[in-house]
Amino acid sequence: MNFNSHNFPQRPAWAEIDLGRLRRNLQLIRGDLPRDVKFLAVVKDEAYGHGALDVASAALATGAWGCGLSTLEEAMILRDAGITAPLLLLGERQEAELEWCVAHDLTVCVNEPHNVRALARIAAGFEKRVPVHLKINTGMSRYGVRWDEALPLIELILAEKSLVLEGMMTHFAQSDEADKTFANLQAARFDEVVRALEQKGIFVPLKHICNSGGILDLPHAHRDMVRAGLLMHGVYPSLVCRRIPGIEPVMSVKAKIAAIQTVKPGESVGYAMRYTATSERRIAVLPIGYGDGFPRVRNEGGALIHGRRAPLVGGVAMDAITVDITDIPQARMWDEAVLMGRQGGEEISVRDIAKLKNSVTYDVLTNWRLRLRRKAVNHPDQGETRISPRDTDQHAAGPVAANVNL
Ligand SMILES: *Cc1c(COP(=O)(O)O)cnc(C)c1O
Repeated sequence: MNFNSHNFPQRPAWAEIDLGRLRRNLQLIRGDLPRDVKFLAVVKDEAYGHGALDVASAALATGAWGCGLSTLEEAMILRDAGITAPLLLLGERQEAELEWCVAHDLTVCVNEPHNVRALARIAAGFEKRVPVHLKINTGMSRYGVRWDEALPLIELILAEKSLVLEGMMTHFAQSDEADKTFANLQAARFDEVVRALEQKGIFVPLKHICNSGGILDLPHAHRDMVRAGLLMHGVYPSLVCRRIPGIEPVMSVKAKIAAIQTVKPGESVGYAMRYTATSERRIAVLPIGYGDGFPRVRNEGGALIHGRRAPLVGGVAMDAITVDITDIPQARMWDEAVLMGRQGGEEISVRDIAKLKNSVTYDVLTNWRLRLRRKAVNHPDQGETRISPRDTDQHAAGPVAANVNL
C-alpha cells in the first residue's frame, strides 16, 4: 500500500461537474444562435468555479472562437496547458503585463491611449501585429472609452502599424430584466460608433455586446460574436429571461452523512443553541460548511436525502451543517446528500442557494471554495476536473490537486 499524498481517500463532500451536460448546453446554445455569430466562452474565475481548462476545452471543441478571461494568470494557465485559441483578457491591463500578453499572444482589451501606445511599442519590439479589442463605455461606466468620445482613440489604434483593431465591444448594465430600455440605449450608442466608423470606411470584424442575458433576450444585439459565461453552466441570469429547452445545471454539491444524532425534546443543536427540538428528532451531520462556501444561514434551507427534503436545523458551522432526517427513517451513515442539485424528483437550485445568501447565482457558483474537490463526471477521459492545472501537473492528477491553489 502506498500512503503518499496522491491516493488518500477523498473527503466525503465535493462539487460534481457534469461535463456531459456542459457539452450539451454548449451545443444547445450554439444551435440557438445564428450560424455566423461567433462564440466567446467566458471562463474567468475557473469558469465560475467549474474548472477553466475543462470548460475552455469543451467550448473550443464545440467551435468556440476563443475564451474570455479576467486575469493574466488565468490566461497563462490556459496557454501553458496548450490552448492555442484566442484568449481575450477582459478589463484593463497594468502596463507591466503587456509584454507577457504580446509574448503569449493574449488579446488585450484597450480602454485608453496610454496602453494603446505602450502595447504598440511592445508589439513592434516583438515584430508582431497584435490584435486588440476596443471597449466602448455605453452606460456601464466601468471600463472603456465613452461612446461619444471614442473616435480619437480609434484613430490612434488605426495609426499604430503594430496593432490591428480586431474587435470592438461594450457590456450591458442590464440585459436580463424584463425592461430592456437601457440595454437598447446602450446598443444604440454602440451603433453610433460603428456607423461613424463605417462612414469612414473602417470595418471592425468582431463587434460584440452580449453576455448571457443578451444572448437570450437581445438577439438584435448579437452582432459578430457573443460572450457567454453563466449560461454555459446551465444557470440563467434571471427568472424573467428566455429559456433554452434542455439546458441543465452543470454543477451539483454533495456530501455524505458523517454522524447521526437523536435529539430529545428541549435539547438544542449547534453553536449558540439556535435550534431547540420540540419533539424527539433525528439529526444528520453533513461534513460541509461555510468554509466550503455554503451560506451561513440558520434554520433555513436544507439538503436532499433519499430524494426528500431534510431541513437545515441550527446554524451552519465552518465544516458542518445539521439537517433533520426524522421523516427519512431509511437514512443511514454515509448516505449521499445533495446540497445543490437534483436527487429523485427534488431539486435545490443555484437560485435557491442564492436566495439564502441574499445574492445572485453568479456569486453562488464562484464562491464554492476550492477545498471542495471538483469531481468531473462524463469527462472525455474521466477523473478530476482540471482546476489549477499547474498543481495537477506537479502532483499527478489526484485528490489533492484540486485543493492546493487557494
Ligand atoms: C463576465 C463577463 C461576461 C459573461 O457574462 P455572463 O452573464 O456570465 O454570460 C461577458 N462579458 C464581459 C465583459 C464579462 O466581464
